[in-house]
Amino acid sequence: MSDTSILTRTEAAERHRLLDVRTVHLDLDLTRGREVFGSTTVIRFGCTTPGAATSVDVKPAALHRVVLNGRELDVTTLRNGRLPLTDLAADNELTVEADMAYSHTGEGMHRFTDPADGEDYVYTQSFLDDGPRVFASFDQPDLKARYTVSVTAPQQWTVVGNSLGRQTSPGRWEFDTTPAISSYLLAVVAGPLHSVRAEHDGIPLGLHCRRSLAAHLDADAAELLEITRQGFDHYHRVFRHRYPFDSYDQCFVPEFNAGAMENPGCVTLRDEYVFRSAVTDTRREERAMVVIHEMAHMWFGDLVTMKWWDDLWLNESFAEYMAYSVTAASTRFTGAWTGFAADRKPWGYDADQRPSTHPVAPGTVEDTAQALQNFDGISYAKGAAVLRQLVAWLGEETFLTGVNDYFDAHAFGNATLDDLLRALAAASGRDVHAWADRWLRTSGVDTLRVADGRIEHTSADGALRPHQLTAGHYRRTADGALELADRVPLDLPGDLPGDGAVPLDPPADGTELTLLNDTDLSYVKIRLDPASWRTARSSLGAVPEELARAVLWGAARDQVRDGELAPGEYLRLVADHLPGETSVHLMDAVLSFARDFVADCALPPAERPAALAELARVCRTLLRRTENEPDRTGLRLVAVRGVIATAADEADAAELRDWLAAGTVPGGPELDPDLRWQLLARLCVLGAAGEPEIAAELAADPSDTSEQGAARCRAALPDPAAKEAAWQALFHGELSNYLAAATAKGLWQPEQAELLDELTVRYFEELAPAAARRGPALARVLTTAAFPAFAATERTVRAAEACLTDPDLTVATRRGLVDQLDTLRRAARARALTGQ
Ligand SMILES: [Zn+2]
Repeated sequence: MSDTSILTRTEAAERHRLLDVRTVHLDLDLTRGREVFGSTTVIRFGCTTPGAATSVDVKPAALHRVVLNGRELDVTTLRNGRLPLTDLAADNELTVEADMAYSHTGEGMHRFTDPADGEDYVYTQSFLDDGPRVFASFDQPDLKARYTVSVTAPQQWTVVGNSLGRQTSPGRWEFDTTPAISSYLLAVVAGPLHSVRAEHDGIPLGLHCRRSLAAHLDADAAELLEITRQGFDHYHRVFRHRYPFDSYDQCFVPEFNAGAMENPGCVTLRDEYVFRSAVTDTRREERAMVVIHEMAHMWFGDLVTMKWWDDLWLNESFAEYMAYSVTAASTRFTGAWTGFAADRKPWGYDADQRPSTHPVAPGTVEDTAQALQNFDGISYAKGAAVLRQLVAWLGEETFLTGVNDYFDAHAFGNATLDDLLRALAAASGRDVHAWADRWLRTSGVDTLRVADGRIEHTSADGALRPHQLTAGHYRRTADGALELADRVPLDLPGDLPGDGAVPLDPPADGTELTLLNDTDLSYVKIRLDPASWRTARSSLGAVPEELARAVLWGAARDQVRDGELAPGEYLRLVADHLPGETSVHLMDAVLSFARDFVADCALPPAERPAALAELARVCRTLLRRTENEPDRTGLRLVAVRGVIATAADEADAAELRDWLAAGTVPGGPELDPDLRWQLLARLCVLGAAGEPEIAAELAADPSDTSEQGAARCRAALPDPAAKEAAWQALFHGELSNYLAAATAKGLWQPEQAELLDELTVRYFEELAPAAARRGPALARVLTTAAFPAFAATERTVRAAEACLTDPDLTVATRRGLVDQLDTLRRAARARALTGQ
């Protein structure tokens, strides 16, 4: 995609000044074969300056015909996805007829053939600027229109759209006209879908998935519908506006790039959320949160939409904050905030300490390519954490009053950050703008450190943000455990005259551990005083609250990343305190970090085997602890996955082969597709399985899970030919987004460093052209899963730096590389701490 197809903020503002888009009639023909589909768009719009010129966005495979006000336009004037329109009238009708190409990267209209039964499915992802790959439009969030969609599809297909629809004749579907919505929210999902229908509070509900997943969706439909009902009830309780659309369909679709997308009335979710295999309860919690998150967008984002992408945070931070708070308050997943602390906030902290960080609410986002890069840990995790601070400061009722006033003022229209701040300021009588300047317009993480009875408040940018938080004081009980002696609220004002230190009231006698932010209310890094850190090292596992333990593990994690704590020290904490851990959130998050960053990247290669052995011991202890118990939370599942991931020698491989042959782990669980493929992948890495086993597994369960598992296994084999085949597929082939990610996950293995040495050099030579050729979604795969993160050496750092000097890198590639380079440098620094 050429850069000139990218819409700039200035162009959007000019087009908004000129146009008033009223209605769009879209007619799609999904019966034109597997390569293209037909798309006819009729747009009716006003123009404030008759005689003026503008352009319409359309990215077709073949543009057949364009008619403006009865005048046939020259289709060869199409350049880079823009077609010029001249001599506009006060009232205009534009018709665009085209063939559009199906995609296999999750962008535009994605087409997927299910290996399980050969059935085809298609779905749109119009976000962020991929709508013109499906239909012609004035593609910017502040030119909303009422859409009337009709679709011709194969007769046995079901078609789902933003509004209620019906089959009017065999294969012909008509949908009701929507309220005014932005073009990036237009959605169509079609195929021989399996559907579950229900109703709640007058709203028709639908759950849809591929036919081959029918039994799995049916098994979980009650849970999904319950979460959906709980979400609607909660939002209807706290928002004045009722749900603004006529129905609510949730479509689980294959090879989806994001978690889900908030298309009004037609949410699309990655269909890995229809579980084919056993999952931890935290994974169910994550799915519930995604459901609640997308539902929040029906108000925040869909009813009231940001004017331009610089207010993206209005969408994502709010939806993310609501997801956690509503899930914790109104569903069975009452521990959702622990998940936020353990799994989600680190994404924000990491992003906020990279060179690519940006304010939650950036002053300006110049174009759509830049906007896409802001879908990161800042907009989601930090934004949600910051809103939590705002709610703590204003009080929830006042906050909701402001938000409701904002909905009232801008319903079915667009708004800016300033509109929201004014509504919150009016509702609260507080200086919300000053708060926003400090929290939303700056970037970077504050650090709070307890020293000499005071709290030292520092930050990288020198600006200090205000914090509402608590401090917990813990003392030793008679039986050697720790108990909370006192919890005190703290209100740190932020920018202070003097040295930024605040006195901390002396704790009661016998306090052994003082923990700032122990309830994880604020967004901040914490450092303990030396005595408290000694207690944490000896007794982290004895801290009674799960959330406080999450804060301590978080502090240990970022000390490793900051080069303040040696990786070996972190592993000692894991060895001492994880075997007794009961929280699946913590078990999962800590083991993942210990394995993926500490063992694979931050330790010198010579020390990795001992680290893996230590992690294996932890997992085996957990396995013994969970024997003969029903695994309600999934703790045993985490242990099993951990044992597989840390298998290293002949004896380990023999054990895994026994499990595979028996179809079960002794004492359970039975091996389901996810576990079988994880296990086989590990055996492939170790050279203890190969093509015959992969082919047998694939034949036993023909499915997309298996195709991805096989791609990963083949790429993981310790064999130069296998590596080269994976390489060619990734960098020079046409793999779909999911098969590319699976191949990338298999490719790099620290055990195979010697075999991979040449490829770590080639990576930096072949990345840029491959990423440019395949577009932003694949660029993300190529700079994340396909990045040689394990090779945390000076040579790799220098190669990445050199690669970044290429002026022709796409925006997505550059951003991905900058972020990986930051992690690489941190890993290299941590290695240096170990002294090798
Ligand atoms: Zn969202």
